[in-house]
Amino acid sequence: TALLEIKDLRAEISGKQILNGYDLVVNAGEIHAIMGPNGSGKSTLSYVLSGRPGYEITGGQALLNGADLSEMTVDERAAAGLFLAFQYPLEVPGVPTMTFLRAALNSQRKKRGEEELSSPELLKRIREAAKVLGMDPEMLRRAVNVGFSGGEKKRAETLQMMLLEPKLCILDETDSGLDIDALKVVASGVNQMRSKDRGMIVITHYQRLLDYITPDVVHVQSAGRIVRTGGKELALELEATGYAQYQSEAA
Ligand code: ADP
Ligand code: MG
Ligand code: MG
Repeated sequence: TALLEIKDLRAEISGKQILNGYDLVVNAGEIHAIMGPNGSGKSTLSYVLSGRPGYEITGGQALLNGADLSEMTVDERAAAGLFLAFQYPLEVPGVPTMTFLRAALNSQRKKRGEEELSSPELLKRIREAAKVLGMDPEMLRRAVNVGFSGGEKKRAETLQMMLLEPKLCILDETDSGLDIDALKVVASGVNQMRSKDRGMIVITHYQRLLDYITPDVVHVQSAGRIVRTGGKELALELEATGYAQYQSEAA
């Protein structure tokens, strides 16, 4: 079975159909980039997969390791190994980042019937990940994302992704608005996590992030479905030609 198999998926928000017969297969070990014009439904795809309220599947299927995502709660999806990184990370005043990370990790382990991690083991893993990301572990005493710079938010989120060891990571325009250093942080986390057991979907409007993360497959999304698939050279072609031809194809 594929890690992720999306078959003729249709979905709507507020009665408006956004995904129109979406097909995508991601196997473990692969990094896929999804590129496309604004408004083509890229974020909608990630929201539908993560189970965000208000996004309704009206046809087709999305299977994670063969299990129908539409039959799983948000927590069950996370425990099954789905992780979403967003463009705008949430701020959680009053909750130290370390406490948040521990709770997130242990709640997932519990759902999978695994033991809680001991504090020394958790600390060890956090220190290792922080090192890869060039992050000061002292930052983890501060409340989740409160007063963090754009780069610090990305480091914290990437650290969370590394700790949770998801099976499928989806990064939705997590690069937008980042300076080159923060971009490299996201990329180093992703590259570190590249594994034969894991798949990743990198959603981006711009080619820039793909200078640092080399995708195996590149897709163009337009008007709620994939309209073209190619290798990493497709990203370079898009950078040169823009999305105009895909907008007219879709219309
Ligand atoms: P992208 O991420 O590719 O820019 P989105 O998934 O954010 O695209 O949006 C796809 C379409 O869905 C857009 O036309 C947008 O206006 C519409 N849309 C997004 N959220 C809502 C909503 N809550 N209600 C109605 N339409 C929405
Ligand atoms: Mg957008
Ligand atoms: Mg978007």
